[in-house]
This record gives sequence, structure tokens and C-alpha cells, in this order.
Amino acid sequence: MKDKQKKTHVFQSEVKELLHLMIHSLYSNKEIFLRELISNASDAIEKIRFEKLYNAEKYSQNEYIPKIQISIKKTEKQIIISDNGIGMTYDEVIKNLGTIAKSGTKSFLKKIDNIEKKEKNEFIGQFGVGFYSSFIVSETVSVYTKHASNQEKNGTLWISNGKGEYSVETTPMKEYGTKIVLSLKNSEQEFLEIWKLKQIIKKYSDHLAIPIEIENYDIKTKTFSWEKINEAQSLWTQNKNNITKEAYQKFYTYISHDSTKPLIWSHNKVEGNQEYINLLYIPKKAAWDMWHKENKHGLKLYVKHVFIMDESTQFLPNYLRFVKGIIDSQDLPLNISREILQDSSITQVLRKSLTKRVLKMLDTLSITNEKKYQEFWNIFGLVMKEGLAEDSENQKTISKLLRFSSIQTQTKEQTLSLNKYVKNMIEGQKKIYFITSDSYKSALSSPHLEIFKEKNIDVLLLSDKIDEWMMNYLIEFNNIQFQSVSKADTSLDDLVSNQKINTNENKFDDFIKRIKIILDNKVKDVRITYRLKNTPAMVLTDSNDMSTQMAKIFSAAGQPVPKIKYILEINPIHPLIKKIKKIENNKKFADWVEVLFEQSILAEKGSLDNPHAFINRINNLFLL
Ligand code: ADP
Ligand code: MG
Repeated sequence: MKDKQKKTHVFQSEVKELLHLMIHSLYSNKEIFLRELISNASDAIEKIRFEKLYNAEKYSQNEYIPKIQISIKKTEKQIIISDNGIGMTYDEVIKNLGTIAKSGTKSFLKKIDNIEKKEKNEFIGQFGVGFYSSFIVSETVSVYTKHASNQEKNGTLWISNGKGEYSVETTPMKEYGTKIVLSLKNSEQEFLEIWKLKQIIKKYSDHLAIPIEIENYDIKTKTFSWEKINEAQSLWTQNKNNITKEAYQKFYTYISHDSTKPLIWSHNKVEGNQEYINLLYIPKKAAWDMWHKENKHGLKLYVKHVFIMDESTQFLPNYLRFVKGIIDSQDLPLNISREILQDSSITQVLRKSLTKRVLKMLDTLSITNEKKYQEFWNIFGLVMKEGLAEDSENQKTISKLLRFSSIQTQTKEQTLSLNKYVKNMIEGQKKIYFITSDSYKSALSSPHLEIFKEKNIDVLLLSDKIDEWMMNYLIEFNNIQFQSVSKADTSLDDLVSNQKINTNENKFDDFIKRIKIILDNKVKDVRITYRLKNTPAMVLTDSNDMSTQMAKIFSAAGQPVPKIKYILEINPIHPLIKKIKKIENNKKFADWVEVLFEQSILAEKGSLDNPHAFINRINNLFLL
């Protein structure tokens, strides 16, 4: 590399924002800077190990002993962290230490800028603050780095005070790797104590497979020596029985950046056709970017204990993207790319069994610890629902994991399983009934539910945006069909037969005919119903027509929607119907019928095509 003069750059605006937020909100958790820098050093070492195996010709083949070393210069108030990892080229320095590549960063930073200080701390920790966290404790940060493929005599020096600008220049460097010099702020001198650093490293990085050494000074002999302070064995390769709960939790924090303890985990060593180790965690909290489709969410992949890649999405379906963890395969080739990984039959087999493993873990939790499972569902239920469409092979298991609110649960929280619903079905009930709506409240107060409330038949109340779509995939459970209560259906007939005997349907024939003349082709049909109690009329969609909720979803997405023709159902025992039936004046009768129809539409859709006409009609009726 040619010598390059010192040049000043400004940070990308996201970096500036992140730096500002971090320095002002992570003050109670400053020590994480060391975790972040060690984690980067470890990543860099894993990368060079991999390179040496697979692009061997580019690198020297001397024995490689990975090392992360930390020393303290008390008089200079400096901490120095160096690694013999892959290092960075001049261009990489500018890209990696001047920008943030993750999509959605901007909106995320905006969002957390407005929240409470205490929460901010947690949020930003989860976001993964990385290298920039060194500015929480440092006045100035200098990075000396040289890429392992660089045969020249110089590397790159990056310097910044974290206030908006940084400088880059070339600098003489013999060995490849990275050395980071933190010049601490006056207020942060506590980090110059060796015991303090040891404690932090033990806390966060004990499980790292790479030795971390700290420089000791022996006053008696006046000599320096390196002391290894971590176990330096990958957690997942150890025997389950020797791993403490705390070690599992710490490892979770390390791979997820989430300081909240995980809900549950599963650690397995599998031998047989395929040999692999997996360590899978279900978090308690959703990652900040769970809904950012562009960001990858996946497991850390190792092959024969060598780190291959982060966020490998191939081992679990997308709806399980909240799962964190590692997979360490004995059978995959080491030089595998994302593309080959995708098509490999080994990957397919692993994906199948890991998916089953996660679902099994959740199923067991739902049986053994309902409270914990409920916690899980409240956070990840929405994502799990995607699974019904995405993973038809496991639909049955996923259905068992679903939770709903219903008339009888009497709470907005989704707590009812389909197993329980089926157990509570009344005699003669043939279907699982549900209603989809914009909100829990509007679902609960829908006139469609009147008969169900009266007969003590439970109805699932669905009001998540995804629900209408999900119900296209959820056809049956234990051979019992699902039925929307806002669609025409005969399964209720037997259950309401008693009422039928009490009203003489023929008496309404003329009345219905008169209504049909007025509404004409605005409706598909008009008929008597026995499903209503306190409401004079309601509309239904025909069994094969698009439902109201679906039409709403389509039109919200800007798709053309065919106009729905409803079936108007009249409650023969309602006093208002009895009154309208007696009206002889045709104009007055027509006004009443229109109002009846429009209010039914309003109850169903929550809106009218022409609210003004409706109001006028009502006002006219008031004046009569
Ligand atoms: P992340 O580790 O999540 O990518 P960081 O902010 O911690 O984010 O680091 C940004 C990038 O800088 C890393 O992805 C890596 O490419 C580079 N980097 C940081 N530290 C080192 C290091 N010690 N050796 C090599 N590259 C590094
Ligand atoms: Mg990092």
C-alpha cells in the first residue's frame, strides 16, 4: 500500500446519532465497551482462521496461534486491545468504522431517541452498539490495523474523538491484525485497574474459544508477563452437565446482544446420519429489527468448530427468525457459500430437524409452564402465525401452539388454545367458530355473536392484521372445520331450531319481498334469521365470497377489490322489525329499510360509502 497522507472524514449521520445516544444513555453500563471490542477481535480471528483454510495460497502457512491481548498503560491512561485477526484494509477501515450498514438503523435511532432513559439503555444494548461503544469511556480512540493479505510494510491508522470526524492515514506496521488504543476520559480511570478488566472479561467473554491474555507486571522481578484469563473453550462443545445456567445465559447475551435473560434454550449433540451440535435460544424480547425483512435473521454457523458465518438463514424457516443460537455441523464442507448452503441436502435435513426441535421446545413449554409460554406468545405470537402459511409440513404442531382471545376468555390477551376450545364445545356443535375484525372490541360487540353468546358457544375473536390471511391456511383442527360467523353457513341450524318453531316464517314472506324490491341489486339476498337477539338486522357474506376483512386488507394494500354483495338478515322478533313491518306508506317504508341496511353495513365494515345520505335519512325519520 502506498503511503497516504492524513485525511479527515465525517461520520455518516447515523453514526453521529448513535454516538450521541450511546454516550448519553449507556452511562450506567459503560463496561460493555470491552465486551464489544473483544467480540470484534474474536470475529476477526475466526475470519483469518477460515481464510487460512480455504484461501491458503494467499496467506503464510506458519502455525497460527490466535490471541487477544490487553494491556494497561497507567501513566498514559490507556487501554490497548490487540488481536492477530484478519485486520482491515484502508478502504475497509473507512467503511467499517465510519458507517453503519444495517438497514432500518435510522428509523430505529429516531424511535429510541424519544423513550425513557432507563429503557433506552436496554434498547440500544440490544441493537448491538459495537465498536462505537469505545467512545463511552474514551477521549480518543486510535485503531492500528493491517489486513492479513497485505504484504507491504504499512497498515492503516484511524483516529477519532467520537465528535463527528475521524482521520485516516497509513502507518508503519509489521504484523497483520488490529490494535486499538483507548485514551480514557479523566472520569473513567477506574478501568485502568487490572482486576477490574479481569472481572469484566470473566463476566462477558469467559466462554470465548480464543485465549484472552492480560499483561501483568510483577513488582518483585520487575518483569511483564501474559496471563490467560478465560476458559477458552467453546461453550457448546462442552458436556451439558458441566455447563451452568449462568454460562448459558451469558453466552446468549454474547450472541444476541440482548441483556435480558433468554426464556428457554435447548442444547443437543446429535450423532447418527448427521452429526451436529445445536444450541438454540428462545428470547424473552423481540429483536429491534424482527420486522425488518431486509435484515437477515439466523443462526451462527460453525463447521467442525470453525466459524463460517453469522445470520445463516437457511437452518430455520423465516417465521422462527426470533430464535438465536448456533449450529455446528460435522458434515458440511468448510468452504461453503450462502448459495451452496441453500441447496445442500445436508442443510435441508438440518433445517428439518432444527425446525422440529424448536417447535418441540415450544410445545413442551406450553404444556409444562403455561405462564412462560404465555409470555412467549404475547411477544412472538404474531410471527408464529406466519408459520401456518410458510410451513405446511408442521401445520398441525403450529396449530396446537396458537393462542386466541374468545368470547369466553373475556380478555384481549390471547390465551385460549385450540385444544381447550375443542374441549369446551357444546353438544351438537360441529365447527370451530371465529370472527375477524379490526379490533378486539369491535369483534366482541359484533351482532354476529349474539346467538353464540346466548347458546354459550365460544367464538374465537381475531383482530391481528395477519389473522384474516392466516385463516385461509387454517382449515381444520383435529378434523373439525373452522367457520367464520360473518359468512353464511348452515352448521348452526340444528342449534337454533327451537326458536324457529316459535316464529312463523310464512308471515314474513311479503315483508321480505317488499324489502327486496327496495334494495334490489344492492344485496345478494334478504332473509329471516334466528341468530340475532338485540339487533334488528345484520349482513353476512356468502360462503364463497370475499370476507369484509379480506376486502379491507386488499384495499389497504392498494389492490382492486370487487364490491361485496351482502346477504341481509332480519331478526323477526325485534320490536323495530315488527314496527317497520306494519308501515304501509311506501316512501316511509323505503327510508326505514335503507337505514336498516346501512346500519348493518356500518356494523360490519365500520364505514359507509355515503355517510351523508345515511345521516339525512335518520334525521328525516326523527322528524316524523
Ligand atoms: P459488528 O461487529 O456488529 O459488525 P462493530 O461496530 O462492532 O459491528 O464493528 C464494525 C466492523 O468493523 C466489523 O464488522 C468489522 O468488519 C470491523 N472491525 C471492528 N473491529 C475489528 C477488528 N478488531 N479486526 C478486524 N475488523 C474489525
Ligand atoms: Mg462487533
